[in-house]
Amino acid sequence: MKIVFATNNQHKLAEVRQILGERFEVVGLKDIGCDEDIPETADTLEGNALQKARYVKEHYGLDCFADDTGLEVVALNGVPGVHTARYAELFGNGFSHDSDANMNLLLHNLEKITDRSARFRTVIALLYQGQELFFEGICPGTILREQHGTEGFGYDPIFQPEGYDRCFAEMTADEKNAISHRGRATQKLVEFLKNEM
Ligand code: IMP
Repeated sequence: MKIVFATNNQHKLAEVRQILGERFEVVGLKDIGCDEDIPETADTLEGNALQKARYVKEHYGLDCFADDTGLEVVALNGVPGVHTARYAELFGNGFSHDSDANMNLLLHNLEKITDRSARFRTVIALLYQGQELFFEGICPGTILREQHGTEGFGYDPIFQPEGYDRCFAEMTADEKNAISHRGRATQKLVEFLKNEM
């Protein structure tokens, strides 16, 4: 059974393929000849994930899933949330568009704040045999006061998952995947698909 993962991120593709095994053929956007920039204009993670999945279904007629992730900081009422990828670009007033700029803006906005609790949240939207389904993965933790470690990407150097004394950027990929938001959401998706096989 062929299913599209609406992503061009080879790392994410490999991760899902590894968990699903050979019973599903998971293909990426490039594999179906889709090189368009799929719009992500919703104001929630659920909305963006669904928008991407529906785009593939409408244009390519294939069952599909798509994900969207946000970092939700309690003291900032859930910000940057749906704007996590473009936080500095949208709200930084001169900050550039990269992970360092995003982290620096967040650290700046939390300078005087003692409640550092936050969570990463991933939503996967699945369009499968006429159904629209959502799978959510949450990883609670705290925002550090400065960057640590060299692994991972995005906000990994300043996010320390609950129950650990190291941040994501100080973990191996396997350690992180076992507890991460995306890992947890993917695991739920895989459980569902396995039951369908
Ligand atoms: P996406 O929806 O997976 O593209 O994630 C949106 C943004 O959230 C990314 O551009 C990253 O800045 C951030 N992000 C998502 N997942 C992670 C993670 O596991 N670690 C650190 N940052 C992440």
